[in-house]
Amino acid sequence: MNIGKFLAGDKAKTFKPKKSHRVGTKRYDLHKHAQATLGAGNLRDAVTLPEGEDEHEWLAVNTVDFFNEINLLYGIVAEFCTEQACPVMCAGPKYEYMWADGVQIRKPIAVSAPRYVDYLMTWVQNLLDDEKVFPTQLGVPFPPDFFERVQNIFKRLFRVYAHIYYCHFEKMTSLGAEPHLNTCFKHYMYFVYEFNLIPKREELAPLQELIDKLLDKRPAAPPDAGASASAGASAGEG
Ligand code: ZN
Repeated sequence: MNIGKFLAGDKAKTFKPKKSHRVGTKRYDLHKHAQATLGAGNLRDAVTLPEGEDEHEWLAVNTVDFFNEINLLYGIVAEFCTEQACPVMCAGPKYEYMWADGVQIRKPIAVSAPRYVDYLMTWVQNLLDDEKVFPTQLGVPFPPDFFERVQNIFKRLFRVYAHIYYCHFEKMTSLGAEPHLNTCFKHYMYFVYEFNLIPKREELAPLQELIDKLLDKRPAAPPDAGASASAGASAGEG
């Protein structure tokens, strides 16, 4: 199977419908700018706020783009991520995630991975469609808690990566999608670090080793470096 098939833009099989930027808007221009920098191949440069641009706009456009990307990646393995195969939303045996959106579901509930991802992607989609949270009209201000909301989205989307890496990595590899998965995740993590979008280290623990390797943050971890990372096991809901 050819990875190109998955990446063929709008025709690609996504888990949820792709969210697009309206042509002619500022955000569309920023999206194009991000795509162009990405095309140039430097992921680290691609995450920096372009000179003179508004940080909120930049966060907004990238949130949509990362949502689409993860949507596409999960779409690749969605048919294998079933109630039977993944009865628990987890990243390996040490990390289990419970779902709560804080509005309709306040008390965290244990759900299967496909259900969790469905809840999660629908929740993000609703936020992105909410003009009060992600205003698209010129002159409409972002809400005061915009940054916290974006942080929350990034924290939760990270878990989809964690689940894919722990539970569907072999499938990804056999489909030839591994390099693309790694590139997307690397880009994601550069962006997360650039704007401190996941401040709690324990949230990153399931993939910390991989992150360090991909981003070349430090030399190879000492043999028991995993011990501290796993202290925050079962990252939980929220
Ligand atoms: Zn799964």
